[in-house]
Amino acid sequence: MNHLILKILIHLSFIFLIIIKSWSHDRQFTEINRFPASEARQGIAVDSKYIYVVGTQEIGKYDKETGKLIARWQGEENGPIIHLDSGVIYNGKLYCAHSNYPSVPMTSSVEIWDAEKLEHIGSHSFGIRWGSCTWIDRYDGYWWAAFAHYDKWKAETGKGSEWTTLVQFDDQWNDLAAWVYPDEVVNRFRPMSNSGGSWGPDGFLYCTGHDSGEVYVMQIPKMGSVLELVEIVPINILGQGIAWDQLTPNTIYGIRKKDRQVVASKVILDKPILRQGYFHSEKAAKDELLMFSQSYSNLDEWKIRAEKLREGILRGAELFPFPEKCDLNPIIHSKRKYKGYTVENVAFESLPGFFVTGNLYRPTESNKPYAAILCPHGHFNEPNGGGRFRPDMQYRCATLARMGAIVFAYDMIGWGESTQFENYKFPDSHKNFKKAVKLQIWNSIRAVDFLISLKEVDPNRIGVTGASGGGTQTFLLTAIDDRIAVSVPVVMVSAHFFGGCNCESGMPIHQSENHITNNAEIAALAAPRPQLIISDGNDWTKNTPDVEFPHIQKIYRMCNAEENVENLHLTDEGHDYGYSKRVGMYKFFARHLALSLSNILNGYRQIDESEVVIEGREKMLVFDEKHPRPAGAVKSIK
Ligand SMILES: [Zn+2]
Repeated sequence: MNHLILKILIHLSFIFLIIIKSWSHDRQFTEINRFPASEARQGIAVDSKYIYVVGTQEIGKYDKETGKLIARWQGEENGPIIHLDSGVIYNGKLYCAHSNYPSVPMTSSVEIWDAEKLEHIGSHSFGIRWGSCTWIDRYDGYWWAAFAHYDKWKAETGKGSEWTTLVQFDDQWNDLAAWVYPDEVVNRFRPMSNSGGSWGPDGFLYCTGHDSGEVYVMQIPKMGSVLELVEIVPINILGQGIAWDQLTPNTIYGIRKKDRQVVASKVILDKPILRQGYFHSEKAAKDELLMFSQSYSNLDEWKIRAEKLREGILRGAELFPFPEKCDLNPIIHSKRKYKGYTVENVAFESLPGFFVTGNLYRPTESNKPYAAILCPHGHFNEPNGGGRFRPDMQYRCATLARMGAIVFAYDMIGWGESTQFENYKFPDSHKNFKKAVKLQIWNSIRAVDFLISLKEVDPNRIGVTGASGGGTQTFLLTAIDDRIAVSVPVVMVSAHFFGGCNCESGMPIHQSENHITNNAEIAALAAPRPQLIISDGNDWTKNTPDVEFPHIQKIYRMCNAEENVENLHLTDEGHDYGYSKRVGMYKFFARHLALSLSNILNGYRQIDESEVVIEGREKMLVFDEKHPRPAGAVKSIK
């Protein structure tokens, strides 16, 4: 009897779920703020601090937080500005759509204002070509504009609302491609047309009609010329211009012409946006850095931004607040003595029952207290078992130890001896373990705890360096842990590439409803602490000297620490942590962590790693037959 009731209930709830699903949208808007603005008739644009409300022949600039009027621009009566429409802020300028609406034949132009002073500074005319320009946006490194046609003038023009066109332009306003709108959307526009448009935080194009309380979510089609409708979502505005807040990604601004009001709404997306791999084109990444850069012009503004990003990264990695720190219970054994350094095999618990495994390199020269350096490895496989066992890792760690630092090389989850999860065996740990970045960052934080727990370590001289995925660990750890004094991220600081692995970008650390960032800006969170960024000419760091580094340098300059950041760019080199990159790193750490470079120079005064003994993998293992992994080790993770 009970089973039967249960079965019926399950069936009913299943049907109910289907009904809810058919009523619901993947996206939902919730109004979060509104304020009056007499100009709220045509369009809107937004930057980090202000809202630009566009009327037919006037623009009002309002404080985003308070809704207070800051500045106003008014066109002349019977002047050249006839009908302004929606726009966008780009590089400190307001770009607005403009047309001769309601006249036919239709002409259009882009009108440009200095966003700070609201002074008209430029114009580009499209002439009589496509229709009536109703909105302009900047996305993916390109300009986008809609050109409307209207059923109500079909008799005069021969073209109804279905002739409305979306056009993509390059930086010189050359048209590159164009699309029309799907019938379902055009029929909702009629007898008017597409009035507002703005590319959203999820990479979809959001458009409005003339007066409906809904947005049309669309995307560029894989084939053909018709935009693809994804869904129609209700929103508490009445058509007209819309603008996504690019710095507070899930917030969209719109207007209610009828009430002369500006309305801010938050979108709830059905899943977080992950910025992974080549998330951006190089052009889009450049635009984005420019946008970030416009949002901070002094140290106070950067500090606010930096705090927001730190919190965003930690929340994205589910490390806000930190989990409770357990005892490290270190296991250290099998000390080998070489010329100028020793090597030991080490494990400690980063979480109860989870062991971080690695090797500890110590100087033999007594020079207490010692600087300490963390060496996370990248996704580099063979030789010698890959990861921390590779010869280039051993050269790096042992040479730094010979220079006078205590160095810890540790396995990334799933690599080397980090194999305790039976449900995630290498290499699956990196392919399938969705929360790898959470555990990986936590392990790095605990590795700093471990180094500081060694009483001969100077807690004020902690460094970190790694290449590729180890470079990602380097800048993520430096960004969120102020105990790191000096960092050297190698071949990874890129504005357009976000790391291809779950341990780098598998959780929303780069974008949430409250923050948006890229790895160049995350690297800048090291400021004012000394940082050497090593890049090369053949991977995603090829633009570093021209794109990422100047941006990071600007932030260091704001922190009065320009001399603390350097870029070593090796144009002819590739994606590795080879000798010439290590040489740059040795010199930088020697300078900033008071290490001895003379300890590693040969008779020709060259940096010489030949004293380092490359060990076989077996010798470096912390867990072996004589030293089994403790019985309390956890065996699986979700
Ligand atoms: Zn990884």
